[in-house]
Amino acid sequence: MQQSDRQSKASWSPESWRTRPIRQAPHYEDQNALAEVEARLHRYPPLVFGEEARRLKARLAAASRGEAFVLQGGPCAESFGEFTGDIIRDTFRVLLQMAAVLTFSAKVPVVKIGRMAGQYAKPRSSDIETRDGVELPCYRGDNVNSPDFTAEARKADPARMEMGYFQAAGVLNLLRAFSHGGFANLHDVHRWMLDYVQQSPQGERYAQLASQIEGSLAFMKACGVDDNAPQYDEVEFFTSHEALLLPYEQALTRIDETTGRHYGLSAHFLWIGDRTRQPDGAHVEFLRGVDNPIGIKVGPTTTVEDLKKLLDILNPEDEAGRITLISRMGHQKVRELLPPLLEAVSQTGRRVTWVCDPMHGNTTTSSNKYKTRAFEHVLGEITGFMDVFEQAGRIPGGIHLEMTGYNVTECTGGPRGLTDADLPTCYKTFCDPRLNAEQSLEIAFQLSERMAR
Ligand code: PEP
Ligand code: MN
Repeated sequence: MQQSDRQSKASWSPESWRTRPIRQAPHYEDQNALAEVEARLHRYPPLVFGEEARRLKARLAAASRGEAFVLQGGPCAESFGEFTGDIIRDTFRVLLQMAAVLTFSAKVPVVKIGRMAGQYAKPRSSDIETRDGVELPCYRGDNVNSPDFTAEARKADPARMEMGYFQAAGVLNLLRAFSHGGFANLHDVHRWMLDYVQQSPQGERYAQLASQIEGSLAFMKACGVDDNAPQYDEVEFFTSHEALLLPYEQALTRIDETTGRHYGLSAHFLWIGDRTRQPDGAHVEFLRGVDNPIGIKVGPTTTVEDLKKLLDILNPEDEAGRITLISRMGHQKVRELLPPLLEAVSQTGRRVTWVCDPMHGNTTTSSNKYKTRAFEHVLGEITGFMDVFEQAGRIPGGIHLEMTGYNVTECTGGPRGLTDADLPTCYKTFCDPRLNAEQSLEIAFQLSERMAR
């Protein structure tokens, strides 16, 4: 470590980000109300525990070595209005199904991370939204304001952060119950299927796979392997969100008793978005000092120089599992833009886990004005990403998807060949379009075929 790195690390504090230039920050009119909410959040129990974050770090390190594969998924933005057990269960179920498909073919553990239990703050491409000549501040996620198009709804309200905390706690509670309370038992692999997927080709294919898994379990049992072991009964499931709303993240930062280090305990994994990854900016400064595993979105405008700088700042000691680079180039650019970055990072000898986000470089507007993504572009970017790694002789670490267990019509194409005309049928997202359960499962099947090679 360079002397300057050591000095700057020493000058970090949970609030040192406040001295740095910040992008995408909401403007709060009532600073007293903001300070009161921050103080309360700081007293509340943390949502996760440092030891869990360290465990995830070890899993991500394994993925960087090809000994595991990361599946990170969930909605673009969670919504306070869609806070129901069914929605959480259905998204969790699809992730479990996808993980089963991938584990079976890749023959490595799948590290399951939800974009859930705290994904409430959104970066936006414009501060202002205009509708019919009326201009209002943009919607920045439910932790900040409301999507309704009124001046009142679009005001940044600090009380929403507290609401976000309690909702994240509720989501996390159910996810923990599902993960450890028997729902994720491998013997129930058939029952994870959602009713509306059951009749589709993806459903049939999944049912076949589930039967194969059951057959394998029966075989293992016959061989004397204890089929009540926790490996069969429970899953590890981690949470993540973009660490965008720094007053909230700071308020949930704590010193871990075991290690004496700071952790951002709003989620296990926190990432820096493509719009807030300036090396001298506030978001990088905040994440520099927390010991969680962290993600960095790597987009078409990321330079080799900035990426190297970010690795120096965020992981000066090259700790394994600390950094996940989430590539989001777009299906047409990934083959051209990713190789030089991959090569440059590889040249540094640094350990990172590379994950493909095939969503954010492939957003378009449909003929009937819906924000959408084409299934073939999503799949095309994953294929391009895998090809780049294969050609470079490097290890791809996983995928990062915007998806839901809901039967939405937000992305075109896929198993049912959704067209622009189908988009209005069930378009629910407040932010970016998500893959529905069938489309998500199809991604898992297509990827699994490749990984089984
Ligand atoms: C996101 O993950 O929802 C997002 C905004 O991504 P990016 O920062 O890569 O644009
Ligand atoms: Mn998004």
